[in-house]
Amino acid sequence: MDAQLLEIRDEVFRRNPGETEFHQAVNEVFESLAPLSARHPEYANAAILQRICEPERQIIFRVPWVDDAGKVQINRGFRVEFNSALGPYKGGLRFHPSVYLGIVKFLGFEQIFKNALTGMPIGGGKGGADFDPRGKSDAEVMRFCQSFMTELYRHIGEYTDVPAGDIGVGGREIGYLFGQYKRITNRYESGVLTGKGIGWGGSLVRPEATGYGAVLFAQEMLKTRGQTFDGQRVSVSGSGNVAINAIAKAQSLGAKVVTASDSGGYIVDEAGIDVELLRQIKEVERGRISDYAVRRGSSVSYVPDGSVWDVDATVALPCATQNELNDKHAARLLDSGLIAVAEGANMPCTAEATALFQEAGTLFGPGKAANAGGVATSALEMQQNASRDAWTFEHTEERLTDIMVNIHESCAATAEEYGMPGNYVAGANIDGFRRVADAMLAQGLI
Ligand code: GLU
Repeated sequence: MDAQLLEIRDEVFRRNPGETEFHQAVNEVFESLAPLSARHPEYANAAILQRICEPERQIIFRVPWVDDAGKVQINRGFRVEFNSALGPYKGGLRFHPSVYLGIVKFLGFEQIFKNALTGMPIGGGKGGADFDPRGKSDAEVMRFCQSFMTELYRHIGEYTDVPAGDIGVGGREIGYLFGQYKRITNRYESGVLTGKGIGWGGSLVRPEATGYGAVLFAQEMLKTRGQTFDGQRVSVSGSGNVAINAIAKAQSLGAKVVTASDSGGYIVDEAGIDVELLRQIKEVERGRISDYAVRRGSSVSYVPDGSVWDVDATVALPCATQNELNDKHAARLLDSGLIAVAEGANMPCTAEATALFQEAGTLFGPGKAANAGGVATSALEMQQNASRDAWTFEHTEERLTDIMVNIHESCAATAEEYGMPGNYVAGANIDGFRRVADAMLAQGLI
């Protein structure tokens, strides 16, 4: 990083104290940008970097609700509208007890560049609440979502800001949020949220898109080395929407996926994960990964606590959460013969782990490229809503595949153009950044 970038970065750190995940995401992008800044002095003249790090708008609000025992509960809601150079703010809502401004800003910052890489007309934003849906009844989740939307509705809209799901926000929550938005505004504005149910404005393939997309991105990386998923031993972390669909796609391409996890522990299934059983337990019964071990039988071991990254694999797909895979895990995986990593989650590898993978020459697909299939399919959902149309699964999946192949291609080409062939981190950061920067330059000082 050159002196000018360092100075701007340190000023961002100073102005946003304590937001460690945001600092990490900013640092990672800045580390890639020196060659771009050198070629484009106009970016510095227009203070593009300083502006891109400052959200256009940040909303923090109280979310009061009443639990099933009749007790008043208070949570904190967030929506960070980060950048609208390329389109309406777009990005998910995360409901998890760890949510605070630093998490929402890291996610929103990543989202700007991820969304740009999709080539779709969407800006970057993110939101959520420090609410824990785990262990709550459907009625409690509904009351929380209704209260959350009672404040959020005034800030969003199909041309303004289009939230979707993330950790803790799936089809059930999007349904309650959409219902409340419709009731308050008296508008059937389908395009205000994505991840809606099929039959009321949702898109086929949206539920599968993030996991499928991560595997498609990994497949493109493997192709550059003359390899495929066939016969790979794959480790996946997490057991939510992204993980389950990544497992399904990798297995359909001939891989054996041996792991999945949740906050309680992980399983190793040497026979290959039974995806339908996993779906039943996690998505229908909202159960725990330990239940999978009990029901599946002898091929499975369940390890409470511990890390799924202690298991040998040739391909790693971290699909759980930020900073779940550290340098020790990375070193172990490299020893066990790892050849590729694609981040299904947002920033699941620590900076040190990423550096180790890159030094070892491992194929490494950063989240903002590898997991962009989810938000890209959200943009396809918006497109269907705008034209009051509903596409087939095949057509939508074809569009998703094209988008992922294009993202891979443009990251690879940009890395090459800047003298770092095979460096998808640099390729994604530079290409995502310049798409946004050029639009900001054209739109003047706002
Ligand atoms: N939360 C997802 C992400 O990290 C999807 C966002 C969306 O569909 O708007 O990209």
